[in-house]
Amino acid sequence: MKLLVTGGAGYVGSVCARVMIDAGHDVTVVDNLTTGNRDAVPEAAAFVEGDVGALAPEILGGGSFDGVLHFAAQSLVGESVEQPEKYWQGNVVESLKLLEAIRTTGTPRLVFSSTAATYGEPDAVPIVESSPTRPTNPYGATKLAIDHAITSYANAHGLAAISLRYFNVAGAHGGAGENRRVETHLIPIVLQAAMGHRESVKIFGTDYHTDDGTAVRDYIHVYDLARAHALALEAAIAGRHAIYNLGSGSGFSVRQVIETCSEVTGLDIPVVYAPRRAGDPAVLIASSDKAIGDLGWEPTNTALPTIVADAWEYTRALGDRAHSAPA
Ligand code: UDP
Repeated sequence: MKLLVTGGAGYVGSVCARVMIDAGHDVTVVDNLTTGNRDAVPEAAAFVEGDVGALAPEILGGGSFDGVLHFAAQSLVGESVEQPEKYWQGNVVESLKLLEAIRTTGTPRLVFSSTAATYGEPDAVPIVESSPTRPTNPYGATKLAIDHAITSYANAHGLAAISLRYFNVAGAHGGAGENRRVETHLIPIVLQAAMGHRESVKIFGTDYHTDDGTAVRDYIHVYDLARAHALALEAAIAGRHAIYNLGSGSGFSVRQVIETCSEVTGLDIPVVYAPRRAGDPAVLIASSDKAIGDLGWEPTNTALPTIVADAWEYTRALGDRAHSAPA
């Protein structure tokens, strides 16, 4: 297929672009490089620098694309609480322009990066796709708004669309991994502390109603996630918008993640305790049964030590190319 990958210079987008190229697809990446890295874009991909909304009409109009994988987004929960305008403009406005370009050019397929943050604080875990969507932060609210827009476009205009609701993506694949200018995600932060690039890890909240008082998340390997995108492209049906959760199905607390990182690296990781981070739910664990049943997806790297080991190998190999600063 001929594919447009938005946000293909970012972490998940660059891994997915690689997996698509390896599967024989022809990939064009569009990315404005505000958070992504030019050197993360696979060499075999065509690259266009700039905003998705402005560029999509020209790119999609210029060739017969079979589909769009839409990763480009602002994606930090804490930042979204402090600067919601960046999320409504950067996520919703840009995505609506992309949807219009998809409609007017007759591009048949869309796979969208949605998120567990659309659910908010769940009534029950594991979270299924029919669970209520009550986002607790603007990040989740903007992704949910885009999901709603996609549903209407699929119903009215025949778009074949799939939203994949990621839980906590981690690990590395094919030389691509987490290398942000400002890092806020738990596993890369803990590994930076293991390397001595940070003094300590702040544990945000020790008073959650969980076994050890810290928040629980479901960590999914980025390669498993990328494989689900390839399956979603094949499975998308014209006029339908399907939504699938993607997680490993088990939850790990912040303390358990830090312990696992310490075991995998063999290094001590100093911690300090801090208040809860605004907008963070206590427990997010996925049921991915629908993706497993409908898409034939099978997560293979579900063990947390495997995910951390791949992230650690990538972090160590980065050397001078690491350009993350403490948030
Ligand atoms: N977290 C933490 N210290 C950090 C970064 C994250 O305690 O330096 C916690 C965060 O509050 C959340 C979990 O780790 O409960 C996962 O956070 P992350 O930012 O990796 O992903 P999110 O769940 O926000 O998408």
